[in-house]
Amino acid sequence: MGQPVLKDWLRTVGSTGIQLSPIGLGTVKLGRDQGVKYPQRFVIPDDRAATQLLSVAQDLGINLIDTAPAYGNSEQRLGELLKGQRQRWVICSKVGEEFEQGQSRFDFSPEHTRYSVERSLGRLNCDVIDLVLVHSNGEDEKIINSLGTLEALADLRRAGKVRAFGISTKSIAGGLAAAELCDVLMVTYNLGHQEEVAVLDKCLQLGTAVMIKKALASGHLAEDYPDPVQASMNLIFQHAATTSAIIGTINPQHLTANVAAARLAIALNSV
Ligand code: NAP
Repeated sequence: MGQPVLKDWLRTVGSTGIQLSPIGLGTVKLGRDQGVKYPQRFVIPDDRAATQLLSVAQDLGINLIDTAPAYGNSEQRLGELLKGQRQRWVICSKVGEEFEQGQSRFDFSPEHTRYSVERSLGRLNCDVIDLVLVHSNGEDEKIINSLGTLEALADLRRAGKVRAFGISTKSIAGGLAAAELCDVLMVTYNLGHQEEVAVLDKCLQLGTAVMIKKALASGHLAEDYPDPVQASMNLIFQHAATTSAIIGTINPQHLTANVAAARLAIALNSV
């Protein structure tokens, strides 16, 4: 067995009671190999390899899995792979982006939001999704202010279909506005992209949880650091707003190294 899920390892999402491991597993690469911007080509893992990856994640103390309808068949695969162990995991999925025949299409309407959450519940084989984020196309402020997407998610939370909601933003203005309205934001923050730190500052002030996406710049690791993975984790966990970093890997060795780097970064920041 690997490292247990230590109590002080988990972080709480605001007042929701949801507890997340500081590293989450991103699952784009479990379901989609088209229209992605990773530096190396890859083969989508088969069920055996995916099961092993999830088992390693669990042994490392990871309880958070990030998926989306736009990640090919990632949700359906997780629904099968996590049968009988749903309670062990905190699942984050999304609404708003569809990826069909190699193309993204966006629909942030309340009707589509409700449809999408029901479809995710079916695909993931569960009664409630822990976290649901709007998968922004970059028009963050329009989505937040005039499309009714967050209101539809708030209704779904009241109905018990979703435990917490937020938005995966792409702009500083959008992040600042969303921080006031959401339980959790997903924000890009890495060694080469620190523009959105103002959003993290605001989330810290308000107690809004933050999940970091592209923590390793989607695999385009910074070359001017002797250990870019450790440097990335140090940066991310130095900011007290960071709840979790979602890292997209299908390599168990990378997953293990990422968790070790996160543990060291968290320990360094707590002294
Ligand atoms: P990322 O986590 O920064 O990078 C993933 C890439 O880094 C993979 O190609 C992975 O390759 C490589 N990698 C991981 N650990 C490594 C290590 N220790 N050493 C060397 N390479 C390593 O970027 P991402 O996958 O774009 O984003 C992470 C997750 O965030 C996604 O899976 C998704 O869940 C979420 N996300 C959300 C949005 C949105 O909401 N708009 C956008 C982007 C991402 P290996 O597989 O070979 O390890």
